[in-house]
Amino acid sequence: MSKIRFTALAELQKRKPVELTPPSSKISSFYGANIFGRETMRSTLSSDIFEQLTRTIDKGGKIEPHVAEAVASAMKSWAMGKGATHYTHWFQPLTGATAEKHDAFFEPSGDGRTIEKFKGSALVQQEPDASSFPSGGIRNTFEARGYTAWDPTSPAFIIENGHARTLCIPTIFVSYTGEALDYKAPLLKALSFVDRAATEVCSEYFDKNVIKVNASLGIEQEYFLVDRALYSARPDLVLAGRSLFGHTSAKGQQLEDHYFGAIPSRVHTFMVEFETEALKLGIPIRTRHNEVAPGQYECAPTFEEVNLAVDHNQLLMDVMERVAERHAFKVLLHEKPFAGVNGSGKHNNWSLITNTGKNLLAPSSKPKENLQFLTFFVNTIKAVYEHNALMRASIASASNDHRLGANEAPPAIMSVFIGTQLSEVLDELEKNAKVKIDKGDNVYMKLGISKIPAILLDNTDRNRTSPFAFTGNKFEFRAVGSSANCASAMIVLNTIVAQQLVEFKRDVDKLITKGQKKEVAIINILREYIKTSKHIRFEGNGYSDEWLKEAEKRGLSHIRDTVGALDAYLTPKTKKLFIDNNIFTDREMEARQEIRFESYIKTIQIEARVMGDLAINHVIPTAINYQNKLITNIKGLKDLGFDISDNPTMETIKEITDRITTIKIKVGEMIEARKVANKIEHSKEMAESYCHKVKAYFDEIRYNVDKLELLVDDEDWPLVKYRELLFLR
Ligand code: ADP
Ligand code: MG
Repeated sequence: MSKIRFTALAELQKRKPVELTPPSSKISSFYGANIFGRETMRSTLSSDIFEQLTRTIDKGGKIEPHVAEAVASAMKSWAMGKGATHYTHWFQPLTGATAEKHDAFFEPSGDGRTIEKFKGSALVQQEPDASSFPSGGIRNTFEARGYTAWDPTSPAFIIENGHARTLCIPTIFVSYTGEALDYKAPLLKALSFVDRAATEVCSEYFDKNVIKVNASLGIEQEYFLVDRALYSARPDLVLAGRSLFGHTSAKGQQLEDHYFGAIPSRVHTFMVEFETEALKLGIPIRTRHNEVAPGQYECAPTFEEVNLAVDHNQLLMDVMERVAERHAFKVLLHEKPFAGVNGSGKHNNWSLITNTGKNLLAPSSKPKENLQFLTFFVNTIKAVYEHNALMRASIASASNDHRLGANEAPPAIMSVFIGTQLSEVLDELEKNAKVKIDKGDNVYMKLGISKIPAILLDNTDRNRTSPFAFTGNKFEFRAVGSSANCASAMIVLNTIVAQQLVEFKRDVDKLITKGQKKEVAIINILREYIKTSKHIRFEGNGYSDEWLKEAEKRGLSHIRDTVGALDAYLTPKTKKLFIDNNIFTDREMEARQEIRFESYIKTIQIEARVMGDLAINHVIPTAINYQNKLITNIKGLKDLGFDISDNPTMETIKEITDRITTIKIKVGEMIEARKVANKIEHSKEMAESYCHKVKAYFDEIRYNVDKLELLVDDEDWPLVKYRELLFLR
């Protein structure tokens, strides 16, 4: 029975790093080779078309049919020149993964011949028969019309898979009736909202030259790697993406000897290859290192405009998974594949950058610029305060539930960490009585604003326990899960900040109308905001029990599980926020909530089934076999005349029986709980039932299985053990 585990371990012995020949040691020579980016556009399009297209990309607007026609033709020639035979609209349905449906360029032209074709209309819009993607009831499968529409702001790219080459065109995915069925459409709306709101504040109060503000995002991606053979021998990893059983290894991460350590050579060649592919796709990947848990790693590209960064992250996850196959690895993107060691997150480093190149979240040595910095800094904090429950909801998933509040992961309470220096600045500002302005820069000097050092970046304190931390010139949203599509968090963050900036502008203008000088009005409003949003600021240890108590006193929401967290999506406040600003319609919001609950239910359902199967069909039979060996042994001893009454083996035999009994009972009860849950009609209630009634059995079943792992002969144990999964490569 234990064969598969040992075959897998034997296979592992034969592994060697894959031979690699990177295209060149000079990354700039192949960077972006597989994208139809600005440079390629410039060299393949007429200057007139190029200009019209880039204008649409930079400023928005409609693409004229003749422009689409010309771009499609150039794109086709470029892609075919690189060996592409097919093209696809590439989109991000609400499954969290990416989707593509390939069409060949070639078309029969009658009389038995064929030609290669790619029309402008095929570039701009497609109707994939993608009827099985979640739509939360928006589409009935019998009228399966969903449309994909070209997003020209994200460059088309070529995916290499073996010898096959496919041209991929980033698109949004909408229903026939116009509702968004993906992440990208609402994200683009949220980004346009924050652009408008931030530009207005900048241009009216600080700098007339600001005509556009881009939100930027740098994503640090954590992941685990396990050998493919070991992975295949663990049905729970294969089906649920995480280990449902497994006693912790004697050595875990206690010694912290993995963090930033030398990268094992098999892993290193894997990294080099997926990075090479990513770089060819214009993903500016720059860092790689070992993370804290054994078998855990991280990579991060340089930050980019949010929409592009999100596309790139989705693409990067695909590339990593594909390349891993060639190296006989499996990438685990799950937030908590192993109990007892760190989970994986995806830190979202976020800031706002103007068309003039100014980072609005970067403190400066110039007083006037610092008022601008404080404006965006304080408004972001206020936005997170006002919508902390929504922020929590934006990162909620069945898989991220295991990570939040667990080993070294941010707690499930939203708070903002800003460091001692900036705390002092805000405290100072708060205490100051009404500001009077004389002339010149005096107002800034009085407030101590001028003293925020520009070098803050290098000496900001680090607080790893904070879910939302200011790190010098950007906020870092750390609670995002490693497998998530970051768009979910980014839609919320950019919308709430935009809304906050709109309110700020209104509040300041009111004071200005009353006769206050602009700077004074800004400071007065900021002071008010600092006071109101104070409760969201927390500088201490987010892992501590004191913080749990303190947060409760402050009235911050602390919701441990997804099912509870999701409520924040449909409160009147959230609905108003999204509907008034045209990010979502009411119907879209209801549909998305339905999808979230469904996805939660399915995840727990799968886990429960796998757990039951492994426990009943793998673990218990193994334990019984082993117990029989012990019984034979005891009987033999007795036959030889030994006194077996206080033989410790008797204890083991008894313990095995006890554990097996508990497991059987609990699995039986869990199955019953599932049956009850499955009968519930309303998806939220069904999700609640799965969360509180079904999942409630997981810990006890696991505890007993893991104890059996310690009792049963290693030779007999069927599941690859933690020490093997985590340490062997
Ligand atoms: P760490 O948090 O591990 O110290 P880094 O300082 O290397 O990480 O930055 C992590 C990510 O933050 C990178 O992707 C980086 O490009 C990104 N980043 C840096 N500055 C900004 C910014 N102004 N806006 C958004 N992301 C940024
Ligand atoms: Mg970081």
